[in-house]
Amino acid sequence: MYKQNIPVNGNDEVAQLGLSIKNLGDQLQYFEESRSDFLAAVSHELRTPLTYLKGYSDILNKDMIKDRKEQKEYLTIINKEAHRLSILINDLFEMSKLQTGQFVLKKELTNINHVIRKATKNLNPVANEKGIGLILNLNEELPEISIDPQRMEQVIYNLIENAIKYTSQGTITIKSKLIRDFIVLQISDTGIGIPSEDLPKIWERFYRVDQSRTRKTGGSGLGLYVVKQIIDAHNGNIQVKSKENEGSVFTIYLEKEENNEKDTNS
Ligand code: ADP
Repeated sequence: MYKQNIPVNGNDEVAQLGLSIKNLGDQLQYFEESRSDFLAAVSHELRTPLTYLKGYSDILNKDMIKDRKEQKEYLTIINKEAHRLSILINDLFEMSKLQTGQFVLKKELTNINHVIRKATKNLNPVANEKGIGLILNLNEELPEISIDPQRMEQVIYNLIENAIKYTSQGTITIKSKLIRDFIVLQISDTGIGIPSEDLPKIWERFYRVDQSRTRKTGGSGLGLYVVKQIIDAHNGNIQVKSKENEGSVFTIYLEKEENNEKDTNS
């Protein structure tokens, strides 16, 4: 809508100004479009669990189901969808903080293994329930690194949580190691894997590989987006290797010097 046909030929100042206005217009249009794409995605994501909540609670309300067992099944669905909604709203909240600049890293010298242990502790019961083992393989000689421990815990938590979600049997291994100037964290699973054509897109907001296989896992498609934003804010790098039906490996590289030299609050 901001595109105008401003003549941009020639080198004079008016032509230059025309070019700048055109570029600005293109940028505005890009932001407009991505904002409305975003709103469309959010309302779609919110609408799905709400439809379930409304539908099933209406049925129960009208006493249409007499069988106790069936009533309980409906209540379980309502409970699951409410839980899904609450995860989605939390993730949206995190994401809006990332995007509105309310997201400030609170860096401090940190032993990354402590962060890994904290994140793992909370997820151990979830893994146990599925019969999946969480194996820690940590290099105890790692130097401390200047990072935001809470944000990094969130990154590790999201990655392990995904590994558990998308694995039905086997193990999840969490490694920390030093490779030259990098502290490297690796989360590997023996799960369903990610098709190669989807790999570049998994970092996008709301992207989920194959809705039908992921719907029952109850995620929002925001976890990896948040992970990537946090790693980028630390000037780090995250990579993924995956093979369908074999598993996935997520690897994070944090530059030791870079993170130690920097002033803490960036
Ligand atoms: P979600 O909330 O759907 O888990 P994420 O942003 O965390 O969203 O992940 C995006 C998609 O990437 C997931 O829906 C899933 O299809 C895929 N994915 C992420 N981690 C894994 C994994 N460890 N194994 C298999 N697929 C994964």
